[in-house]
Amino acid sequence: MSLLELRDVRVVYRRRDGLPVPAVAGVSLAVNQGEIVGLVGETGCGKSSLGRAAVGLLPAAGGSVTFDGEPVHVLGRRARPRRERRLQLVFQNPYESLNPRRKVGAQIADAFALSRGVPRSEWRPRVAELLRRVGLPSGMADRFPHQLSGGQRQRIAIARALATEPAMMVLDEPLSALDASIQAQVANLLMSLARDLQVGMLLISHDLAIVRHVANRTAVMYLGLVVETGPTRLLWTDPLHPYTRALIDAAPHADGAGHLPAGLPGETPDPAKPPSGCRFHPRCPFVMDRCRTDIPILQPKGQGRHVACWLHEEPAAPGQPAGADTAGAGIVP
Ligand code: SF4
Repeated sequence: MSLLELRDVRVVYRRRDGLPVPAVAGVSLAVNQGEIVGLVGETGCGKSSLGRAAVGLLPAAGGSVTFDGEPVHVLGRRARPRRERRLQLVFQNPYESLNPRRKVGAQIADAFALSRGVPRSEWRPRVAELLRRVGLPSGMADRFPHQLSGGQRQRIAIARALATEPAMMVLDEPLSALDASIQAQVANLLMSLARDLQVGMLLISHDLAIVRHVANRTAVMYLGLVVETGPTRLLWTDPLHPYTRALIDAAPHADGAGHLPAGLPGETPDPAKPPSGCRFHPRCPFVMDRCRTDIPILQPKGQGRHVACWLHEEPAAPGQPAGADTAGAGIVP
């Protein structure tokens, strides 16, 4: 059993005009202790909604989320801190989640007040230790958020999450607001925390280049569904799904070239009205007739890889029709 398990999770919003929007249309994922799983996709693909459902901030319209074997429900304000101690969410913009009028050391120490197991006399040395762990001097504790750089604030947000000694962190675009050099530092910090403290992490990002650097495994999401998942190294060097290939082509490369792929026209479709068949078919350079009608499901491809694409269809077993089934895609280990 994995530490965090999502099975066929669905998240539905209702738009102002009353139209239901299936932001997440049935995703299964698992994250183990000490492992970093990257979740990548374009803005609006549903990855942030999935992250919020994973920590119980959004209700799942279907499927299940379990953390350490227990179901994760949306909890009220009173009950939430108990679970937040072990399952933390770190937001994209730490400035918004920090109180501008309080010193950052006091905000990190809030976690000790919640846990009630840490004597007040230990709060300051513990804050200093957490700051050291995220690569900041202890004197930072006496600063206000506006006195810190973006990278320092993100480190403070991570230190604050670590104060509760979490087993799992869901990080929603934690690096996207940072300069490239600071991104690399915070990315290295995340890897060392996963390795040294055995914290599991679900790292949500639109940037496959960052995820490539940090994540052990990667899941690629398109319009509410995971279309490919596998060990990050394999996914980067030998992508199976045309959308993964397009993301890699669009990512900045070591030679500094970041280019949009020629074979990926158009915008992401409206998630309230997803295309029939394969949701990627209006943008896919390899589209076939059946892609417009039949929905591909995630299929195992060996070496821990899964892909949902008719280009990689296995021959159907005798008496069993191929494809056409979207539900219950097995949990991806
Ligand atoms: Fe392209 Fe068809 Fe594969 Fe979808 S199923 S990604 S349209 S080839």
